[in-house]
Amino acid sequence: MFRKILYPTDFSDCAAKALEYVKKLREAGTEEVVLVHVIDVREIETMATGVAELGMTTAEYEEALQKKMRDGAEKKLEAVKEELKSVGLKVSVKTPEGIPFKKILRIAEDEDVSLIVLGSHGKSNIREMLLGSVSEKVVRGSKRPVLVIKRETTIMW
Ligand code: ATP
Ligand code: MN
Repeated sequence: MFRKILYPTDFSDCAAKALEYVKKLREAGTEEVVLVHVIDVREIETMATGVAELGMTTAEYEEALQKKMRDGAEKKLEAVKEELKSVGLKVSVKTPEGIPFKKILRIAEDEDVSLIVLGSHGKSNIREMLLGSVSEKVVRGSKRPVLVIKRETTIMW
């Protein structure tokens, strides 16, 4: 039923929890995983603000930062890829630059995936938020089924 899964990760605890479900779905007939980490252009722009004072142009700094972020992500993605392959899944890896939710929705369409699996929260993991902004926008914007894996909860009713 869910032959091809899109699994976007920001390498957070909650995304790691979602990875366990992706692996389990192999037993339910999943064959292929598109593993994605979006390099957030807004993060790069924010970090590059004011760098001219250090004698480097903003463009130079952005380029160096982008390379550093890409190298770091690719290393981590390689480990996740091996983990998925070890349970018999076919894996392709993507590291686009852009706005995370937009790229995730775009790739879901382009790759014609049957399911998106992601964490309810990510790196920020704000206690008061029911969903992070990426997961909320993916749930809202996706035409395809989305499986949202919740974080560990401490709320007692
Ligand atoms: P916010 O980013 O709004 O401050 P948050 O970091 O707690 O909140 P999200 O960013 O929405 O939560 O993360 C939810 C899930 O979305 C993550 O567990 C991960 O699966 C996915 N995700 C988040 N950012 C990225 C990214 N840059 N690339 C790929 N997947 C991502
Ligand atoms: Mn986030």
